[in-house]
Formats: sequence, structure tokens, C-alpha cells
Amino acid sequence: MKAMYPGSFDPITIGHLDIIERASKLYDEVVVAINENVAKKATFSASERKVLIEKCVAKFKNVRVVIGKGLTVDVAKKEGCGVLVRGIRAIADYEYELALATTNMKLEKDIETVFLVAKPEFSFLSSSIAKEVAHYGGDIKALIPEMIIDEVKKRLS
Ligand code: ADP
Repeated sequence: MKAMYPGSFDPITIGHLDIIERASKLYDEVVVAINENVAKKATFSASERKVLIEKCVAKFKNVRVVIGKGLTVDVAKKEGCGVLVRGIRAIADYEYELALATTNMKLEKDIETVFLVAKPEFSFLSSSIAKEVAHYGGDIKALIPEMIIDEVKKRLS
């Protein structure tokens, strides 16, 4: 079974990377799909985000990265993925994730959403918190994968 992990990843955090690693053990292949979300103003362009994620996932043989255009379920169908993986950190994520999963279920009944619960050490970590810390010159070692820290710091400091 092939799974897709869709998200903004602006930029990828160690919390995202943990979900990717865990999903890669559950599924034959994991396709990380970057949303080109026009409503949200992104710090990194979709192609920059793709390069950053690719550096982080190079060690996983069954993970690849795509830029998804349009509806997530359409991207999943195009890539042959029957499962959407999403991460749940705290109760705050739940309502939004439930709305999203229910909408996707209505749009495409053959694609299931599977939730992986964040590890407690990553449950308060988000791209926006990592960006804020980097912006003010804080140490982002515990937030951003080490192989991309320099690029993220350079962009945000
Ligand atoms: P989106 O804009 O689609 O929510 P994100 O990049 O913020 O994209 O997150 C993608 C997915 O990863 C979401 O399901 C989100 O809840 C999950 N996620 C984000 N940060 C973490 C984390 N630290 N640990 C586990 N899951 C996370």
C-alpha cells in the first residue's frame, strides 16, 4: 500500500520528519506532497521546500517528494496512494483534521485518512514556531532537521 503525507512543510520540522519515518515503516511507499497553498503566504517556495525535504528524507529508500497541485485527493489518486497520513499533536489539531478528513472522505470514498499521534517531545512543534525562534536568533537544533538548519537560519535571521 502506498501512502501520501500532504502538508505545507514551510519548512519541514523534526516533527514532520518523525511522521515520515514512522509512515515509511507502515507503508510500502510514502509520497510527501507539498501543498502549493495560495491562501497561506509561504516563507519558502514550493520548489525550495521540495529541496529541503529531499535532503532530510534521502536516508529513506521508500520516500519521495512531489509538489501537489489542486485537491489533495486528486494528487493522491494521480500518485496511486490509497491512504492519506496526517499528524495529530494536540486537541487543537483535532477539529481541523476531522473536517479535512471528512471532506476528503466525501470527495473520494476510496481514500482513507490515517492519523499518527505526535511523539510527546514534538507535540508543541510547528513550522511557524520554528520560524519565530530562528527569526529572533534562537537555537533551532531541537526543531529543524540538522541537515537543513543553515539554510533555514540564513533565510530567517
Ligand atoms: P498543513 O498546512 O497541511 O496543516 P503542516 O505542514 O502544518 O501542513 O502539517 C502537515 C501535517 O503534519 C498535519 O497533519 C500536521 O498536524 C502534522 N504535523 C505538523 N507538525 C507536527 C509535529 N510536530 N508532529 C506531528 N505531526 C505534525
